[in-house]
Amino acid sequence: MNNVTLVRKEPSESLFREDGLRLDGRGLDELRPIRMEVGVLNNADGSAYVEHGKNKIVAAVYGPRELHPKHLALPDKALVRCEYRMATFSVEERKSPAPGRREVELSKVIRESLEPAIFVYKYPRATIDVFVQILQADGGTRCASITAAALALADAGVPMRDLVVGCAVGKIEGKVAVDLSDVEDKLGEGDIPMALMPTKKVITLLQSDGDFTPEEFKQALEMGIAACEKIYEMQRDILIERYSKVREEVAEEQEEE
Ligand code: UDP
Repeated sequence: MNNVTLVRKEPSESLFREDGLRLDGRGLDELRPIRMEVGVLNNADGSAYVEHGKNKIVAAVYGPRELHPKHLALPDKALVRCEYRMATFSVEERKSPAPGRREVELSKVIRESLEPAIFVYKYPRATIDVFVQILQADGGTRCASITAAALALADAGVPMRDLVVGCAVGKIEGKVAVDLSDVEDKLGEGDIPMALMPTKKVITLLQSDGDFTPEEFKQALEMGIAACEKIYEMQRDILIERYSKVREEVAEEQEEE
């Protein structure tokens, strides 16, 4: 698969090539190339790095830990806080370093997508803090952020009932397609960002922008769930790899003692 995203100069040109494939060589149900790593930061309790297409995202998690200021504490469960930020250099036109309305909204959206997967009632009055930094944006950053943040939560050892995976489905030139690239996101007719708890089969995020017929919406949901399940396989593999390494290291240390 050709993973080079061609940015169109002329909005009048098609988002499909002559051979019927998308500009980056993908079929309608094909994901962009994805790479994941966990435990990438020394100073967080858990962390992950995800490349999803040309998106480059770091997530860091702290907690469960004591909450300051204390008056924010919830008597029956942990408070999950999330901060989504875009680096000034992450987009084509320099982004102001001050958090904008969009970042505040996406922080909320990401938090609400993750919280159903966390056993928050185990930690009354505590906090779990999730930080997401977009180093490079290529469309679908909220979804890739959810994938990265769930990995970081798992890496931090936060008890969870499931992982969470994000992926957007959209409509380009009348066709439903998964995982829109930046140019497809900007020039396509619609976008449905979604997040899934893959083993529980629970959707924790479903937004919609643009016009979809009921049939298109149903098709988008099915394609989105299938795409999330593929991303989940990658999440699971990378976590198994990480914990096999940790287990080996612990065994080696115990042998040395
Ligand atoms: N974007 C940008 N400048 C900004 C915010 C966003 O250029 O200040 C671009 C960026 O490439 C992002 C895309 O617009 O991925 C789509 O943003 P949207 O709000 O739809 O969120 P996303 O699709 O990334 O979840």
